[in-house]
Amino acid sequence: MSDPTALTLAAALDGLAKKEFSSLELTDAFLAAIDKANPALNAFTTIVHDKARAMAKVSDARRAKGEAGLLEGAPLGVKDLFCTEGVKSTACSRALGEFKPTYESSVTANLWRDGAVMLGKLNMDEFAMGSSNETSAYGPVVNPWRAKGSNQNLTPGGSSGGSAAAVAADLCLGATATDTGGSIRQPAAFTGSVGIKPTYGRCSRWGIVAFASSLDQAGPIAKTVKDAALLLQSMAGHDPKDSTSLPGPTPAFSQAIGKSVKGLRIGVPKEYRVDGMPDAIEALWAQGAAWLEAAGCTLVDISLPHTKYALPAYYIIAPAEASSNLARYDGMRFGARVQGKDLDDTYAKSRAAGFGAEVQRRILIGAYVLSAGYYDAYYLKAQKVRARIAEDFANAFGQVDAILTPATPSAAFALGERSGDPVQMYLNDIFTVTANLAGLPGLVLPTALSHDGLPLGLQLIGKALDEETVFSLAHVLEDAAAFKARPAHWW
Ligand code: GLN
Repeated sequence: MSDPTALTLAAALDGLAKKEFSSLELTDAFLAAIDKANPALNAFTTIVHDKARAMAKVSDARRAKGEAGLLEGAPLGVKDLFCTEGVKSTACSRALGEFKPTYESSVTANLWRDGAVMLGKLNMDEFAMGSSNETSAYGPVVNPWRAKGSNQNLTPGGSSGGSAAAVAADLCLGATATDTGGSIRQPAAFTGSVGIKPTYGRCSRWGIVAFASSLDQAGPIAKTVKDAALLLQSMAGHDPKDSTSLPGPTPAFSQAIGKSVKGLRIGVPKEYRVDGMPDAIEALWAQGAAWLEAAGCTLVDISLPHTKYALPAYYIIAPAEASSNLARYDGMRFGARVQGKDLDDTYAKSRAAGFGAEVQRRILIGAYVLSAGYYDAYYLKAQKVRARIAEDFANAFGQVDAILTPATPSAAFALGERSGDPVQMYLNDIFTVTANLAGLPGLVLPTALSHDGLPLGLQLIGKALDEETVFSLAHVLEDAAAFKARPAHWW
């Protein structure tokens, strides 16, 4: 058997079905790859060798009985923001300490229902706040990609940096991730992976540690568009335990792969051409548009006039919601408690010790913009901007079926390069936060390498609940780009 860790999810499922290897063999191959790579990449925070092997054996038995599910036997990684029963779930914060949930998040439960195997928990920015994985209490993840001729460690992006790095380094067939303002899509772009944030409400938020509840959405990071479709198909679905979970059946997303896109109208928003954007990104965007045109799509110049306010609005709304969601970490129920002289002092000391600097910054901003006197000036204003941004998209979708944009304003940057300047870091999210503010599906896929050999991605934004069109278009781009580059296994 050649190295099965290099397979796509679809190919591995095929190999399992044809009995070329068992889930246990596949799982063992991944566990060995993780053990070898993790000291260098730091992608996993917890590796569950025994649990993974036990799940794989059960899966092999199920397949032998002819009861194979959609993802039967496929080893996956789980972002540490998802609660996993009996397995440490920390959001990569000291505030959660050694927390072991007594329940399973709905999204991961769906994956296990369909036969997938859990390899472990993946590193991330603390409470999913960050764009470089440097705010994790477990230290940064290292991007498996390096620039041509350089040994410098690069960021895999964030907050789902562990998920993206693990997929890119062949440490799992796919991974769960979450996206509040780009945390699936920016790491996918930085690691040459495919990531989709579905429509808000597609995936249940139940059992996912909350950051900003009106923006948070789960989705997969995978090696191909088809793999992402398969994973999302399993992860999504109505859940009565999340009041924002959408009713109705989940489409078979993988059937959208290979569908003709002839006649579709694709919007190219002029506001996404930002100052200082490298020529390579301009060129990639134009090339993507040309590929879609060649497949029979019509390109339409569109305007999303409120785009310039999206980033400031996001960095008011997300911290506001975070400051409320994170009020529960007071040292009583979870994580480290630092005893003070009275109850208030214990709360204060526990929170000061439990939260890292970026999380503290978000809580302070959030409390400020929600406080009396500032609420109208900041939070309410940001909510109005959010409504305008959603309206911009609604107007655009009167004319077009999907929108094509760059994924990020640059390729992966060096660890440490931007960690000293929060605003520089926030600017990374310029193309991704709009889809969260409007609740729309956004998919990122790699289509080219930068001049120094790093992956660059494009983003497709679809109408609400129209992931299928996004998948069909993404597959056309994937085919045209034939992006086959993989990082060298230097670890
Ligand atoms: N980078 C953004 C932030 O720091 C997005 C995070 C996310 O999507 N979870 O808020």
